[in-house]
Amino acid sequence: MIVIGGGLAGLAAAAALGSTGATVELFESRPFLGGRATSYSLPDSEVIDNCQHILLRCCVNLLDFYRRLAVDDKVHFFAEIPFMEPGGRVSIFRRGLLPAPLHFTESFLRLPFLNLRDKLAIGRAFLAILMEHGRRKDLDDISMLDWLQEKGQTPNAIERFWRQVLVSAINEELDRMAASHGFQVVRLGFLAASDSYEMGVPNVPLGDLYGSQAWSRMPAVKLRLRAAVETVEVAGGRVAGIISGGEIYSAKQYVSAVPFERLGGLIPAAEIDTSAFEHSSITGVHVWFDRPVTDMANATLLDRNIQWFFNKDGGRYLQLVISASRKLLEMPRQQVIDLAVKELREFLPAARDAQIVKAHVVKEARATFSALPGLHKHRPGTRTRLENLWLAGDWTQSGWPATMEGAVRSGYKAAEFTAAALERPAKFLIPDIK
Ligand SMILES: Cc1cc2nc3c(=O)[nH]c(=O)nc-3n(C[C@H](O)[C@H](O)[C@H](O)COP(=O)(O)OP(=O)(O)OC[C@H]3O[C@@H](n4cnc5c(N)ncnc54)[C@H](O)[C@@H]3O)c2cc1C
Repeated sequence: MIVIGGGLAGLAAAAALGSTGATVELFESRPFLGGRATSYSLPDSEVIDNCQHILLRCCVNLLDFYRRLAVDDKVHFFAEIPFMEPGGRVSIFRRGLLPAPLHFTESFLRLPFLNLRDKLAIGRAFLAILMEHGRRKDLDDISMLDWLQEKGQTPNAIERFWRQVLVSAINEELDRMAASHGFQVVRLGFLAASDSYEMGVPNVPLGDLYGSQAWSRMPAVKLRLRAAVETVEVAGGRVAGIISGGEIYSAKQYVSAVPFERLGGLIPAAEIDTSAFEHSSITGVHVWFDRPVTDMANATLLDRNIQWFFNKDGGRYLQLVISASRKLLEMPRQQVIDLAVKELREFLPAARDAQIVKAHVVKEARATFSALPGLHKHRPGTRTRLENLWLAGDWTQSGWPATMEGAVRSGYKAAEFTAAALERPAKFLIPDIK
């Protein structure tokens, strides 16, 4: 079979099918794997991730994919999530002694950045999520903000809890995010199991996770880099072959794992309508200081533009993340750095006297699709109108928002359809935790 696209969706499809011994040829246009979750070298040879990527323990398919590549031990999990206020006060979110779904009760009641009214409102909303999940039918069509307002959430709870948690998770503002996505994050991340919220951060550059060593155990998988697929030939309602570098390649089955904005130009005969999709951006700011400015591994930052910092090198190198960063796209890079550093210094006093050695901004204008209300019905499934073409990518009906887990799920689904068509039926997809 042939896979087009070496992001997580295409890699997951290739790894799953490769494990069955099927012959797989993957075509990736860039010189490296990983697509939007990758790393590359700066001109001074420093290797950076395009942006810090995190996962939660409830990303069961992504973790399964990392196990297939034997890199699951390269992800460090944190059981404590620090919320930091300007000025530096830290509140820790962690599980306590009570069983799920009550495991956060102790730390939640102690959080100083929310008052009692906020906490009661959030508690009521958690209960409503448990009650309405699977019963309420309009969650794909209303915004999370509409739902929160319907549930009488206080302005402080919306700004300092819901917005803080969900905008980073879904990469969209609350008024542009379908409520179903907010439900899913809370249900799977906060309520389903007492450890599902634990945050995983790879302790190697993202690109190292897809290194060639793991693939050498799957000799039937051939990865072609710098190999853009230029044309997909269609005949008689089937894909007949692809053209890459002027050569024709053919197989019995094909998986397209390219982003939505690429599909129409590449395979018009698939007739997938992507006109309802919009992009949402993420901005990563990388700052190197002349001395350590924190000993914390990471924290989510309240009330400012930057939403997270991640400590990448003994407190000297921090990666700052701003999700749904539409308004920063037009801002000149130096202004983005100035803004991010000015804000960071409000949280980390040690950064106030530290000198900046260098800084780098990555604006990913097409980071994810925008999880808009009403979009759900436009996300295509795995099957296409071409008999031997299967669709993968975080934007397809993966059951998840645009995340690494969503991409891997879509890849596993496409691999299952392909395996069935090749008469080697296999199950790869792991169901969400209940
Ligand atoms: C800055 C940023 C931060 C993020 N943070 C997180 C996070 O913390 N946690 C999380 O879970 N998710 C995060 N995401 C989202 C996550 O990265 C994506 O959802 C996921 O990686 C998408 O994978 P994909 O395989 O569907 O698509 P892609 O990664 O876009 O892969 C598609 C691949 O197809 C290739 N391609 C395109 N056209 C062709 C062609 N004609 N021929 C051959 N190859 C082609 C592309 O080069 C690309 O490698 C983030 C994304 C960004 C950009």
